[in-house]
Amino acid sequence: MILRKQFLSHVAQTSPSPMLVEVERAEGSFFYTPEGKRYFDLVAGVSVSNVGHCNPVVVKAVQEQAARYMHVMVYGELVESPQVTYATELAATLPAPLEAVYFLNSGAEAVEGALKLAKRFTGRTEMISMRRAYHGSTHGAMSMMGTPEGEEWKAAFRPLLPDVQSIEFNHFEALNRITERTACVLMEPVQGEAGVRLPERGYLEALRSRCDEVGALLIFDEIQTGMGRTGEMFAMQKYGVVPDIVCLAKAFGGGMPLGAFVARHEIMDTLRENPVLGHITTFGGHPVCCAAGLAALRFLKEERVVEQVEAKGALYEQLLQGHPQVKEIRRSGLLLAVELGESAKLYRLMELFKEVGIMSDWFLYCDTAFRISPPLTISEEEIRESVRLILQALDRL
Ligand code: PLP
Repeated sequence: MILRKQFLSHVAQTSPSPMLVEVERAEGSFFYTPEGKRYFDLVAGVSVSNVGHCNPVVVKAVQEQAARYMHVMVYGELVESPQVTYATELAATLPAPLEAVYFLNSGAEAVEGALKLAKRFTGRTEMISMRRAYHGSTHGAMSMMGTPEGEEWKAAFRPLLPDVQSIEFNHFEALNRITERTACVLMEPVQGEAGVRLPERGYLEALRSRCDEVGALLIFDEIQTGMGRTGEMFAMQKYGVVPDIVCLAKAFGGGMPLGAFVARHEIMDTLRENPVLGHITTFGGHPVCCAAGLAALRFLKEERVVEQVEAKGALYEQLLQGHPQVKEIRRSGLLLAVELGESAKLYRLMELFKEVGIMSDWFLYCDTAFRISPPLTISEEEIRESVRLILQALDRL
């Protein structure tokens, strides 16, 4: 109780109605309150805890690296094995020619770096994003927020970056707005905060060829879709389209704060000079975060976690389909939006979820659907048990 009061008094608030559930510990697919109440974590820190809470291999990597060394010197000067090894294994995991990794601390920072790189490489200024895209809350990333009608988020913070426009996701004709003036197109191959929107057949290929035609760089934001969430290590592999730059964060740090943008050397090397130190960071690529991210990547591969994602997502879909309150399910791997069609119902459902011990959420641009994006390690039994609780709550709507 005291902690909750202090939270409201001294921790800056992001909304007038926080959940106020106190977390004591977390393990696997669950977190627990001090009173011992168990919550199924179907948000996973917004697609962060892909390898499960307190995964022993990640905990061990963090403890060992913390005892060896933490922060020594800003990114890019010293040779630090967690960074170098992670970059090397990541490059081997990503499709060629994505080979040079610039480490940062978060998703928004990865996006900022990618945008600057695109301007630097092309010498152009126009940047294009997709409607209903979310790329982060810093000024640059927010400029690329392709908000729906009203632009209420952006309006409060203008002026933002100039020479930015957004086009409709999945509209083939709108690709003609990408021209020789365009430095880059930034997009999520599967839109997350729009409420899980998948690209139509052929759309990413058409976007790739339009960018090639006019010399614009294609940037994929795989901050939410990366590290196995959609059933491939990266969503780009599902669609067979390789961007010029990819942004990573969230699960990329295995539960620790870590982001990166990755490109081929020809592009990335332009950041090295003119001006020298034109993009720098103190904590980007922190050794403890890189050790955690590397342990998580190895775990995903060694335990064949990603191979099981599609079947687990399909099981959720199958078990929830047919309930009279469920209007539609949009899904990519273990990223699901369960559509109720009405926000008032969804708000009521969140209260019921809290009672039955389900942690879910709606989406930034879609408050009529609830999110299911649990740790990828969730078992079949846990899926069935969480669906039983979800249905219990849906029945009471
Ligand atoms: N890009 C996408 C697709 C996201 O979903 C998010 C966060 O939700 C971000 C970028 C921003 O990441 P961060 O909160 O680490 O800045």
